[in-house]
Amino acid sequence: MRIVLMGPPGGGKGTQAGILKQQWQIPHISTGELLRAAVRDGTPLGLQAKATMDAGELVSDDLMLGLIEARLSQPDAAAGFILDGYPRNLSQAESLDVVLARIGQPVSGALLVEVDPEHIVERLAKRAEQEGRSDDDETTVRKRLAIYAEQTAPVAHYYARQGQLVRVLGEGGIEEITQRILAAVEQAGWP
Ligand code: ADP
Repeated sequence: MRIVLMGPPGGGKGTQAGILKQQWQIPHISTGELLRAAVRDGTPLGLQAKATMDAGELVSDDLMLGLIEARLSQPDAAAGFILDGYPRNLSQAESLDVVLARIGQPVSGALLVEVDPEHIVERLAKRAEQEGRSDDDETTVRKRLAIYAEQTAPVAHYYARQGQLVRVLGEGGIEEITQRILAAVEQAGWP
């Protein structure tokens, strides 16, 4: 199973991906996590990406493509993967298709976890207190939501046009949402 997990920032994708990777025994590849690790380790990529991330803006498509290609070529990804945070705009969606076509492993489908933006501002205010992520202050969160609406929401349409999109309501308890996802994916019958 090669899934693109989509949804607004702070919409709970990361939490669900953590559960689904156990269930399906495939890696959870979060570009946000990969970038934060690069920043922590002070790699050249981390140094380049930090200011952009702190501003809530998107890191360049070139840097992201390098990062995702390297991660997808790790042996564990041959079993499948849950992509979280990539692709985030149409150009990344097209690049991903090219990369995956090259290795003969196309995306099985995209799962959109939908959450009302007002809930997100609240959730992220809580996360800011708990985790202290430098991009969770209210102004930056609103910026990330705007970029999501402008650039990432069209990616859902991209998959919908190819008959590859499944939508799930991302509100309610964690387990309730997981059950919805599992039912929706089973119904979709993705390879
Ligand atoms: P969230 O989904 O909560 O916004 P992420 O952890 O997925 O958080 O991403 C954090 C930040 O990392 C983004 O705001 C952006 O700056 C950067 N980032 C992550 N993935 C990408 C991507 N595919 N393209 C560009 N920038 C990205």
